[in-house]
Order: sequence, then structure tokens, then C-alpha cells
Amino acid sequence: MQDKLTLMIPGPTPVPETVLQALGRHPIGHRSADFQKIVKRTTEQLQWLHQTQHEVLVITGSGTAAMEAGIVNTLSRGDRVLCGDNGKFGERWVKVAKAYGLDVQVIKAEWGQPLDPEAFKAALEADTAKAIKAVILTHSETSTGVINDLQTIAAHVRAHGTALTIADCVTSLGATDVPMDDWGVDVIGSGSQKGYMMPPGLSFVAMGPRAWQAYERSDLPKFYLDLGKYRKAAADNSNPFTPAINLYFALEAALEMMEKEGLKAIFARHARHQRATSAAMQAIGLPLYAAAGHGSPAITAVAPDGIDAESLRKEVKNRFDILLAGGQDHLKGHVFRIGHLGFVADRDILTAVAAIEATLQDLGLGKVATGAGVAAAATELAKG
Ligand SMILES: *Cc1c(COP(=O)(O)O)cnc(C)c1O
Repeated sequence: MQDKLTLMIPGPTPVPETVLQALGRHPIGHRSADFQKIVKRTTEQLQWLHQTQHEVLVITGSGTAAMEAGIVNTLSRGDRVLCGDNGKFGERWVKVAKAYGLDVQVIKAEWGQPLDPEAFKAALEADTAKAIKAVILTHSETSTGVINDLQTIAAHVRAHGTALTIADCVTSLGATDVPMDDWGVDVIGSGSQKGYMMPPGLSFVAMGPRAWQAYERSDLPKFYLDLGKYRKAAADNSNPFTPAINLYFALEAALEMMEKEGLKAIFARHARHQRATSAAMQAIGLPLYAAAGHGSPAITAVAPDGIDAESLRKEVKNRFDILLAGGQDHLKGHVFRIGHLGFVADRDILTAVAAIEATLQDLGLGKVATGAGVAAAATELAKG
């Protein structure tokens, strides 16, 4: 049905009417006083969201641009880095680090399992020469629906004394608590089409003081992503290049909505949706892909044993206009993923679960009486 599509993928995520309306204005000059006001306001809002007193810079680009910026602005040719890899995004940061000629040591975990903080601790403690300059990892691994223990790993990095923590918080920021300053995370990258309730196009990189010290030494090539330029412009409430001005209008509106809801309430909502979705899938006999107790607050990956995940997903889209995400790489056909990130309400969870149940019944694949999933989700949602 026209205009009825509901996105339940982990980005792009649904955009509220208020934010869409903020986009639909004539652009203003990016060197005007009016625009400077927006930069000033959104910078304060972004610091609130990141729970930091340090710079949060805005780059026109997708989330990968923010992470690449974090890497090229703090590291130098040949630097050794530890990369955590337990999914598609972990793999991506290994590729970026290698593309810039870094000496990459990979700490892996099986897909579906979390990274082991002890493995990071051991590697960092063994590095008495302090050759490791950064630990690069993904907080919420979107491809598998696993949350990694960023807090503990960042603490091990701090104990090392030299290395920085560069964290992909693209699907954790705005979904769960990521207190940048308290946890001592040096660089955080994120993107507008995820927890921000916005269309794609802006990315955000937060940099702490240790990251700026490293910036002074960093010799990796950079021009558009040179954060020194962004910091200098930000001091004047500006941007070094022409930013996506209309997305800034949307950013201000979206962050205002988030401020009204409050961080605690936002995190509680995502936690509730994760619990409800997991309980529903288990109640209808569809196993979860992520290891128990390590599910991401933004996305639930389901491995429907013996059922072709792609046919199920396509049928849910055809019949109900609800878009679920598929499995990536070797998980294609074996896994589907339910995004519950950003502008998602309890109602959306009940609807998605009901649509999955009805589709299973249609396809003759239902293992239990239709309604068991909705009942399980409703019970979890009622707990608040
Ligand atoms: C979406 C996503 C990104 C960014 O991808 P872009 O397509 O560049 O916006 C990075 N990391 C994770 C974990 C993501 O989910």
C-alpha cells in the first residue's frame, strides 16, 4: 500500500513527522548567523547525547566517514592497532585500518558471540613496549545483533596508558548508555540514520583530549576528513565545507525530541523492545542468533532453524509492508534481523511480531498457535 512502509531494519530507521517537516524548508546560507545558531545549539545537544564535555564534530557523510575520520586523525603510518572483529562491521574497521597501512592485530570472536574483554586485556598487558596505539571496536555489532562490552574493554585500554579507544557506536548511541567521558572512550563514531531518528547523510565523531593529542602527531593522509579543520570551524559555530544544511534542521528537531523524552527513558524503551522481541521469537519457536545475554538493544537477529529467512522476510514485506533486514554474507537465508532502533514504539513491536506470526501461518510453517508471540511480547512490554 502506498506510503505504508514501516522500516524495521537497523538503518535507515523511521523518521518522525516533526523531523520530516524540519527538513522541508529552504536551505539557508551556511555562513549566516542563523546557521551559526543551529550549529551552536546542535553541538550542545550532541554533547548531551554523548555525555561528554568534549568536541562532537559533524561530517556530511555516512557512519563510515565518522569512523574513518577517527582512525586517520589519531594514527600514523605503520602504527599497531588492535581491531575487534565479531561481525561485518568489525571486518570493515580491519579493512579501513589496512587500507591506511596500519599494522593490524585482529581479536576475533565467532559471529553471534561477543568479543572477549580478557583477550584485549592480555594483548594490552603483553605490549610492554607500548607499540599498540589504538583499539578499534564496534559496540553494537549490527550484523549479528550482539552488544560488546565497550566499558570493560575501554578500561583495559586506559590501563595500558598509551592506546586510544576508537569505538563504532553507530547502533548503540541513542539506544543504550554510552557515557563517553565516564568510560574514558577517546573517539566515538555514529551516523544520523540510526538512533538519531533522521534520514542518512550526517555522521558524528566525538573526540576526547587524548585523541586530540594523538591528532597532533598523526601523519595519515586526510583532507576532507581532517578534523582539525572541523574543530577550528566549530569554535566559530561553523563547518569547514558546505554541510547538509537541511539535515542540520532535522538534527536540531530530532535531538529536541530526544531531550524531551530523556536519556533514561530512551534507553529503557530500547531495552524493553529488545526483551519483548526476544521473548516473542522464542515463544514462537524461532531461536535467537546472538549468544544469550549479549543481545543488542538496537537489533534482534533471529535464526529460524529450517526456515528460509529470506522467503519469510520477503513475505512479511509483501503482505504487511514491514521491512525486516536479512542476514549478511554467510548468514543470508539463515538469519533475519528485526531493527528496533530510534523512533520505535511498543505498537511497532506488537505489529511486527503479529506480522511474523501471521506470515509463518500463511506459509504453513507455524510451530505454535498464532498469538503466542504477541502474548509474550505484550507481557514484556507491560513490565515497562
Ligand atoms: C550502519 C552502521 C555503520 C555505518 O554504515 P554507513 O552505511 O556508513 O552509515 C557502522 N557501524 C555499524 C555497527 C552500523 O550498524
